[in-house]
Amino acid sequence: MAVSFYNFNELHNDEFKSKIKERINKIIDTNAFIEGEYNAAFEKDFGKLQKSKHALLLANGTDALEIALLAYGVGKGDTVVVPSISFFATAEAVYNVGAEVLFCDIDPATGLIDVESFKRVIKGKNVKAVMPVHIYGQPAPIAELEKVCDKENIKIVEDAAQAQGTFYAPNSPVGDSKNLVTFSFYPTKNLSAFGDAGGILTNDSNLAEKITSIRNHGRSPNGHALIGRNSRCDHIHAAVLHLKLEKIEQYNETRKKIAVKYHEAMSAVKGVRIVPDKFLNLSSWHLYPIGLKNSEEKYALKNHLQTKGIGSSLFYEKSLPELLPLQKCEGEKQKGIDFAANTLCLPMHPFLKDGDIKDVVSEVKSFLGR
Ligand SMILES: *Cc1c(COP(=O)(O)O)cnc(C)c1O
Repeated sequence: MAVSFYNFNELHNDEFKSKIKERINKIIDTNAFIEGEYNAAFEKDFGKLQKSKHALLLANGTDALEIALLAYGVGKGDTVVVPSISFFATAEAVYNVGAEVLFCDIDPATGLIDVESFKRVIKGKNVKAVMPVHIYGQPAPIAELEKVCDKENIKIVEDAAQAQGTFYAPNSPVGDSKNLVTFSFYPTKNLSAFGDAGGILTNDSNLAEKITSIRNHGRSPNGHALIGRNSRCDHIHAAVLHLKLEKIEQYNETRKKIAVKYHEAMSAVKGVRIVPDKFLNLSSWHLYPIGLKNSEEKYALKNHLQTKGIGSSLFYEKSLPELLPLQKCEGEKQKGIDFAANTLCLPMHPFLKDGDIKDVVSEVKSFLGR
């Protein structure tokens, strides 16, 4: 039986389609194409859900990273620490504001930033900011990082593009922090628009005001007060996001139940790395990564699953320091290189049936033969 990696048909089912068409018709009828009532409604409700005072919608997740750095005053000549495992945009944002990347390594059990490596790489360097990534939906060790950063006066931008629904600790969702926390609402993320969208959460009202100005050409109530840019979120995307917000907790709960089933089955397979137990209740389960023996085994398993009609995906085929524009960056990287080499993501979306999970698990097990 085929098992798809994503499932947009059920996410955008007939009930959803009829509701969103009503909203889109209203947008057309009122000519409110940019920053309309759904933007305000989403910002209010999303902020509440993530326990953050301010939620600010933006055009995409990469803009969110760049604007967070700009809001902290990061720019030309500054150094920003980025973990060796993330999507390219995390490092790209650093260069797009004129700063440079210094790599620190990851915890090989999770792919999350390794605070000990961070401490080593910042020694003797004038580091302005660090961008921990809540990769696959797992919470990065923000509290430990804050202990170091508070002392060294280093700003933290949390890349939460994969973390709508992630908790640092029970009752403390991502966004319940003193840092700038950035999101992407790209169509494949847990919470997604009908195209590109992104956002930033902050509990700091001054930073919220600055970000609000930057996203709309530096406007303030009295005119253009600074050089900003255009990173407004279209009204249609906000209407979609606001409608999907109604179901995000339910969908994330379903992802967790699926993750638990995978977890129980996969923990019996020798030599396969799975997400640690401690994250079962904290992760948004954006993805379900497993670690194989090596890259040969990873590609062979991927091919095998494909012949059985089971989707799988490489997040990420290469670590950041291996990518051409980043090969000259200094820092620690070997654990990230190894992690990317052996990691494969299995199907994970809230519409997987028990039979789908059984099929995936039995194909993985029979292929690995252990
Ligand atoms: C998706 C993603 C981004 C980029 O978001 P866009 O909306 O595509 O610009 C950044 N960082 C991580 C970790 C992501 O997964």
